[in-house]
Amino acid sequence: MSPNHTTEQPHVPFALPDVGEDEAEAAAHAVRSGWVTSGPIMKEFEREFAEFLGGGVETVAVNSATAGLHLALEALGVGPGDEVIVPDWTFTATAEVVRYLDATPVIVDVDQTSLNINTESVAEAVTDNTKAIIPVHFAGLPVDLKALRASLGGRNVAIVEDAAHALPAVGSTGLVGNSRASDATVFSFYATKTITTGEGGMMSTDRADIAERARVMRLHGINRDAFDRYTSKKPSWAYDVVAPGFKYNLGDIAAAIGRVQLARACEMQVRRQSIAEYYLSELGDLPLQLPVQAGEGELHAWHLFVVRLPVGQQIRRKAFISKMAELGVSCSVHFIPLHCHTYWKQFVPDAAQRLPVSAAESERALSLPVFSKMTDSQVTQVVEAVRKVAEELV
Ligand SMILES: *Cc1c(COP(=O)(O)O)cnc(C)c1O
Repeated sequence: MSPNHTTEQPHVPFALPDVGEDEAEAAAHAVRSGWVTSGPIMKEFEREFAEFLGGGVETVAVNSATAGLHLALEALGVGPGDEVIVPDWTFTATAEVVRYLDATPVIVDVDQTSLNINTESVAEAVTDNTKAIIPVHFAGLPVDLKALRASLGGRNVAIVEDAAHALPAVGSTGLVGNSRASDATVFSFYATKTITTGEGGMMSTDRADIAERARVMRLHGINRDAFDRYTSKKPSWAYDVVAPGFKYNLGDIAAAIGRVQLARACEMQVRRQSIAEYYLSELGDLPLQLPVQAGEGELHAWHLFVVRLPVGQQIRRKAFISKMAELGVSCSVHFIPLHCHTYWKQFVPDAAQRLPVSAAESERALSLPVFSKMTDSQVTQVVEAVRKVAEELV
């Protein structure tokens, strides 16, 4: 029995990876090559990714964005006693990497309109112990890095961009991932993200020290270059361990899929943008708050399309999502903010005072399906369902 057996409507899933024969062919080719772990294809993927971003950045392929964020903070020397500022409105991965290093996450509020990190809250939260900040380009809407830097008041705070939603996106400082305004940027290739390798991620940075440390730490802390310094002729079995590293490398099968996906990244963004623009034009008259578009000359990756129920109607979110499901459309919620989770509560006991925007806005937010594989009829079905449910409930 199909999950939507009660309706004759076809089902619109919340998200589907946009992978097909080309990705399958590339993966099969990698398998047939006989080299299935990190090797020449991973190197080629890194090279193409760096070329895609431009600006002379270095890239480090990893097996998840979570791994990439962890490596970036580790390379920056984040440790016990350090504070790292993160937005409340994000996935737990953004903050958990701070705890991996025994540092303290300082959870701050988001902006009412963009839902990105609030620069005034950042200015209030920054202290002498602030070592880094992790802005999230939420939904694919680029964070204004110039404004963010200004909010740090001239302090020496590293910026690590969580760009899990932002490939490709263009903000006030250019293409996300090649900005001189940050220290490192991390993308996700998780199944539902804008490009996928099944599981995977990529760090980009213009800081050679960060790239070098991340490359060593993504593979057990093994440093072959260090060994080279002491030997004129390195035997193939030789290696030196310089730190207790991690197992975060991306294999060639995943990288092969990634190369095909990267070549299609812009065309897939165009499709998502046209879906988002259609939603904006067809839902504009409803009493729902629709997401903002990117600024002039900027680009929104449109990984998510988040609508907000009218203030006072947040109690209807559950009903709204169930009614959409009855009409064959799967919606979701991004995110249940950090302060609502059992573990993160201890870091913001005063959430109501410190995070008023995130606390209020997150309860009335829900995400509509937007993925490049959506057909026109699926897009129309979403619009019709939203109109019907909004008429009934809102
Ligand atoms: C998906 C996601 C991550 C983690 O990505 P993985 O590749 O699954 O580790 C991090 N931050 C945000 C905002 C995400 O949505």
